[in-house]
Amino acid sequence: MMTALDPRQMAADLGVRLEAEYPLARLTTLRVGGPAEWVFFPATPEQAAALHGVLREQGSDPRVIGGGSNIVAPDAGVRGAVICTAAMNLPPEAVGGERFRCAAGQAIPGLARWACRHGRRGVEFAEGIPAQLGGALRMNAGANESCFAEITETVLLAAGDGRIEERRVAAGDFAYRESFIGREGRFVVGAILRLPEDEPEAIRRRMLSFRRRRQATQPLTERSAGCVFANYPDQSVGALVDELGLKGLRVGGAEVSSVHGNFIINRGEARAADVLAVIDRLREELIRATGRAPRMEVEIWRERR
Ligand SMILES: Cc1cc2nc3c(=O)[nH]c(=O)nc-3n(C[C@H](O)[C@H](O)[C@H](O)COP(=O)(O)OP(=O)(O)OC[C@H]3O[C@@H](n4cnc5c(N)ncnc54)[C@H](O)[C@@H]3O)c2cc1C
Repeated sequence: MMTALDPRQMAADLGVRLEAEYPLARLTTLRVGGPAEWVFFPATPEQAAALHGVLREQGSDPRVIGGGSNIVAPDAGVRGAVICTAAMNLPPEAVGGERFRCAAGQAIPGLARWACRHGRRGVEFAEGIPAQLGGALRMNAGANESCFAEITETVLLAAGDGRIEERRVAAGDFAYRESFIGREGRFVVGAILRLPEDEPEAIRRRMLSFRRRRQATQPLTERSAGCVFANYPDQSVGALVDELGLKGLRVGGAEVSSVHGNFIINRGEARAADVLAVIDRLREELIRATGRAPRMEVEIWRERR
């Protein structure tokens, strides 16, 4: 990490947990990836913004990881600082009317269950997405004809100088599986969500039907990073992979799922290199079949820098 300050000293000064040479395979749902040189685990939005400010002041541009459910991490690991939001999994806080302040590390399945228990609708579409709120906003994660942009009033961002900046969501901030957060390279420390009241039983019923649909269409018991490619505007990539007979395609321990053609699963011993080889092969075949390059949905982290 290109900083004058010792990362250990920095973490101790801010009261943030720090791990050295921490395996990225432990932080990603695909379970591949070598060690990250430094991983910081801030516990609150305030601590995360302060940490981010100090790192930026020291000339470091930290990577961020949430649930690690959309990342292929490199076998060689990464150099420098990674901020993991997993410890920022605090209970949502009511801030007036139907508005709730949530931290970036809020696990989405837990948030959906909490909302159901408290008679608040809006998140049930996302119950099966193994993300955290920051990553879900960055990707504008969606399912069942809904997405995070629809329930977000304000995004809480690290301002870069240690403070938290509040950004009210405006037209154009979010689109299909992408957002201003990625475009502008921002770090989300939390958000204010709008969750109107509803009958817990009605919410529970919707959640159950979404869960059944997901169980029938996704390999939920396998290790994966969700959809590899964003769907074409007019065509589902999973269906096309199926039509092309590519389900089951395997390199080393990485295999195209037989349940969903846009998922690559780790059969147990996969390396990132195996996953990347399968991705390359799928991309070639999709281009051959459609004449169009598919847009990546998973993010591929490159080697140590
Ligand atoms: C079984 C399975 C099912 C899935 N189903 C769906 C689905 O139905 N719909 C869908 O849209 N996706 C789905 N996904 C993909 C994935 O869950 C989403 O892309 C999700 O939004 C990623 O969130 P995350 O917290 O895991 O982010 P990560 O994978 O940790 O990170 C993804 C990106 O967001 C950035 N990021 C993470 N946290 C922050 C933050 N606090 N501030 C700024 N940037 C940040 C990272 O740097 C990276 O660029 C699925 C994945 C799996 C494994």
